[in-house]
Amino acid sequence: MKMEGSFNAKVVLLGTSRVGKTSIATRFGMNTFDENQTATIGVAFLTKSYKFDEGVISFELWDTAGQEKFKSVTMSYVREAKAVLCVYDLFKKGTVSPAIDYAVDAVEKLGESTIIVMVGNKSDLCVDVPPEVYSFCQKHSYNHFECSAKTGEGIDEIFSFLGKQLIEKKFFEKSLIRSFDIQEENGKSKCC
Ligand code: GDP
Ligand code: MG
Repeated sequence: MKMEGSFNAKVVLLGTSRVGKTSIATRFGMNTFDENQTATIGVAFLTKSYKFDEGVISFELWDTAGQEKFKSVTMSYVREAKAVLCVYDLFKKGTVSPAIDYAVDAVEKLGESTIIVMVGNKSDLCVDVPPEVYSFCQKHSYNHFECSAKTGEGIDEIFSFLGKQLIEKKFFEKSLIRSFDIQEENGKSKCC
């Protein structure tokens, strides 16, 4: 028997300036991309719902816009987040270490059960993933995704994965969640 439910999941984007957090958020929420994306002031979130056999997960994706320099401010936004996306720029090696630091800080703040995902953005520029990302992910059993906010490649995969994880970890309601079969709400089938 199918059981229907509706769940909210706050997800926060962390990472140093210019790695593409705002671009990922706008690609996710509005399916658009701005080549000249400027720094945004304040914090913003976009929502998008995904339909599962067990119900709908409404992801609330928080963009820590313009706060990167003030880590304590940024970290105050992660409160009650179910997952954190630590974004780095595949093209700029120097952005890896801040993304790792954000992951460490997020776990400290939110606890071990938080889902941490490392995200290498700008995959359209065709650059290899720096080895230190893999070793960090392997050490902590974190998942890693490559994506391009520019082309949209890899963005849905991140949220398909998050939905699967949230269901598997019984983040919502223990008895409701069993199998997993994700479909975007617009009816397009999506296989994970
Ligand atoms: P934020 O400071 O982390 O929010 O980064 P932005 O979203 O403002 O993006 C910084 C710059 O990178 C902008 O010029 C974007 O157009 C560009 N950018 C973002 N995502 C991508 C991507 O996937 N590929 C490419 N080539 N450029 C991107
Ligand atoms: Mg931004």
